[in-house]
Amino acid sequence: MFGPPNPSGAAAIPLAGSDLDRAGHRRTDADWLKDAFASDRAMVMLMRGGDPLMSGSPGQSGPRDLLWLGAQAGAFAGDAPPLFLGVTPKGAPVFALDVAPDFSLGSTPLAGLGAFEGFRPAAGAMDSRDAGIAATARALFEWRRRHRFCPNCGQPTRLVDAGWKSRCDGCESDHFPRIDPVAIMLAVHEDACLLGRQKAWPPGFYSCLAGFIEPGETMEQGAARELLEEAGVAASGEAKYLFCQPWPFPSSLMVGMILKAENRELRIDETEIETARWFPREEMAEIMSGRHPECHAPPNLAIAHHIIRAWLAQTD
Ligand SMILES: [Zn+2]
Repeated sequence: MFGPPNPSGAAAIPLAGSDLDRAGHRRTDADWLKDAFASDRAMVMLMRGGDPLMSGSPGQSGPRDLLWLGAQAGAFAGDAPPLFLGVTPKGAPVFALDVAPDFSLGSTPLAGLGAFEGFRPAAGAMDSRDAGIAATARALFEWRRRHRFCPNCGQPTRLVDAGWKSRCDGCESDHFPRIDPVAIMLAVHEDACLLGRQKAWPPGFYSCLAGFIEPGETMEQGAARELLEEAGVAASGEAKYLFCQPWPFPSSLMVGMILKAENRELRIDETEIETARWFPREEMAEIMSGRHPECHAPPNLAIAHHIIRAWLAQTD
């Protein structure tokens, strides 16, 4: 029924494009990690409060990248252990450091080389490899920020495995980074698709409906439930998985789907969304091209943008 899910390939989904070998077996090799961090091939990025250190100036037009440093970056991170992210195809070990919230570049040798920038605009300016690396680092640092204590016994935990696990010495339990699956779906009926908007969004901005998967649900069931709860629309049972996107705000995995709806009758739950609206294919194409007089589509960074594009590209 549905065509090829993503003609341009999964690597085209923003924040999912890192080509690092995660080299998980190195995470427990303290000697290797120490040597790798100190080597002149090490690539080290800095993050402050989830925002990456970028080259150039904020607001500068055109592509920019993470400001990659070497082992000297260790001097800026206090006693925070380096997060080991993997090895590039050329063999360079990649690390990230979470600097203190009050860290300022001004008094360091880095002054004038770059700036910490909000994650979303920064990720939109980076190449796909750096954006994938930054998304991974942000997810792990945000997990650590929110999970410093053992959920089992309440004692402080400590990071092990180069930042990929926390251990409680009180009850000898291990804890792993949290990932929250979210179904984000385009409901379609014949030649129209359903988008919704929330009150807080800019005027005219519409996007896919979405919601967290609950325990005991499949992705398809969760997507159908959200569609029914938010818009009052029943799914026909036909659901298609397209692609997914790590979304480190703070720990989501956005699972992109297309659902067939039984009809176009809407019954909006205004506690969830402000409104929802069916858009014929031609109108949707107009919105995506930026030519619609009233409505705006999700930006390229959002998986919703790519879900809509995938539907528009279908020729069934
Ligand atoms: Zn414990």
